[in-house]
Amino acid sequence: MMDQVTAAGETALVAGGAGFLGSHLCDALLARGASVICLDNLLTGSADNVAHLQNHSRFRFLQHDICQPLKISGKLDVVFNLACAASPPRYQADPFHTMMTSVAGTLNLLQLAEAHEARFLQASTSEVYGDPDRHPQSEDYNGNVNCTGPRACYDEGKRAAEALCFDMLRANRADVRVARIFNTYGPRMDPEDGRIVSNLVVQALRGEPMTIYGTGEQTRSFCYVSDLIAGLIALVDVAGNPGVPVNVGNPGEFTINELAELVVAKTGTKSAVVFQPLPKDDPTRRKPDISRAKALLGWEPRVPLREGLDTTITHFRKIVAAQNRSGAS
Ligand code: NAD
Ligand code: UDP
Repeated sequence: MMDQVTAAGETALVAGGAGFLGSHLCDALLARGASVICLDNLLTGSADNVAHLQNHSRFRFLQHDICQPLKISGKLDVVFNLACAASPPRYQADPFHTMMTSVAGTLNLLQLAEAHEARFLQASTSEVYGDPDRHPQSEDYNGNVNCTGPRACYDEGKRAAEALCFDMLRANRADVRVARIFNTYGPRMDPEDGRIVSNLVVQALRGEPMTIYGTGEQTRSFCYVSDLIAGLIALVDVAGNPGVPVNVGNPGEFTINELAELVVAKTGTKSAVVFQPLPKDDPTRRKPDISRAKALLGWEPRVPLREGLDTTITHFRKIVAAQNRSGAS
């Protein structure tokens, strides 16, 4: 059963709305007839991601860092918190800001939702499971996170954000829902932000060495962006608060070597693979158990990696071709 806060007449605030996932969420909400306030400090996102929306009558962009409190005039029906750098090199570049974004930033947005009696959706992450010693990962697994390592600013920040969310819910101060997002890919990933799918595809298209960290036998489960956005909307719209976090991801599990082979086959690149050191605390395996999302939301992903990669490669081909033209001129 649905109790929609994303339909026509509703107003959504999307923090992190100029990022990869946030910009797709803005598109989806506008397509459903909602009004959208996109809030972003443009740290890892880009105004280009929402440039096509600038003249949309139901779209508004506000440049703001969520670490600072904020007030919004007029009604708000739902607040989505996607604001946080998500790529390891980017979130480790300023670990203090990353942690404060998840802690102070999430609290600021929760208080905003409370003030407006708006529903709240937190973009949490599979990183709350750390380097998991249970496989696949279901939501009742408490994780294996190194709280002193270089990934802690992100992992522990997101865990603290979940704690804030569930305290807010227990106190009946806001209708809070938490999605634990697993690796998601697709058009509008930043080609330079260092994540695996964008790195391999862009390197292949540029004819540069394809970098694999460690042996490449570590696994990830890759969800296509349209599936992920449908999952977030289903979670925020479902009637009755689930009261528990919900994994949103694609259970198809691939080694990084298998992903590289797919990219080579699909792009026809002559690039060679080069092996580089594995970053500290890099998770060995990751695969979501999505039984809860299926049962509570009737949601499951539809786009297999082979298909989603085609669309992603087409997107990056255009970017690389434009870069080649501007470099050549
Ligand atoms: P992204 O880096 O493309 O987007 C994050 C956006 O948040 C950017 O536009 C950035 O400028 C903005 N931002 C960062 N700090 C901010 C701050 N303090 N105030 C305001 N804006 C700020 O990353 P993404 O892949 O789109 O991820 C979006 C959300 O989903 C993040 O919260 C991330 O943790 C979560 N997530 C993503 C994935 C994934 O695979 N893409 C996986 C798990 C969780
Ligand atoms: N990775 C890699 N080469 C790259 C970028 C990443 O081998 O150029 C590896 C990385 O070490 C990790 C996996 O790919 O094992 C996924 O990395 P990503 O940064 O995309 O996401 P996360 O580690 O946060 O899941």
